[in-house]
Amino acid sequence: MQADCIFCNIAQGKIPANLVYEDEHVVAFHDISPAAPVHVLVIPKKHIANLLEVSIEDCQFVTQLMTKIPLIAEQLGLAEKGFRTVINTKDDGGQTVHHLHVHILGGRFMTWPPG
Ligand code: AMP
Ligand code: ZN
Repeated sequence: MQADCIFCNIAQGKIPANLVYEDEHVVAFHDISPAAPVHVLVIPKKHIANLLEVSIEDCQFVTQLMTKIPLIAEQLGLAEKGFRTVINTKDDGGQTVHHLHVHILGGRFMTWPPG
């Protein structure tokens, strides 16, 4: 828990969010500024700043994060047509919140390459 981290505060229930999934290790909630008809963020409860900070010691958190995505996508009704997952890392990646998170974007066709 990092006191000044907005996603740590959401994970601890100290800042409200529109949750779609929660368990011991992971929380998922609707993005406050959706970029697609369905836009959900999946985060580990443990504070990890970004993908560069992931170490082998974090493997259980990363495994939890990744293996919950199919469950959440199914719950959101995205499993049949598909969806996009995005992890932005630092400035050039467009990261604005420095707590590791996976964007799940769906409900429309996603173009490639991203901007
Ligand atoms: P990124 O730019 O990859 O770091 O993604 C951060 C995402 O967090 C953005 O899409 C924001 O809209 C979203 N966001 C920021 N604050 C909140 C919040 N309080 N609740 C839900 N989503 C948020
Ligand atoms: Zn955090």
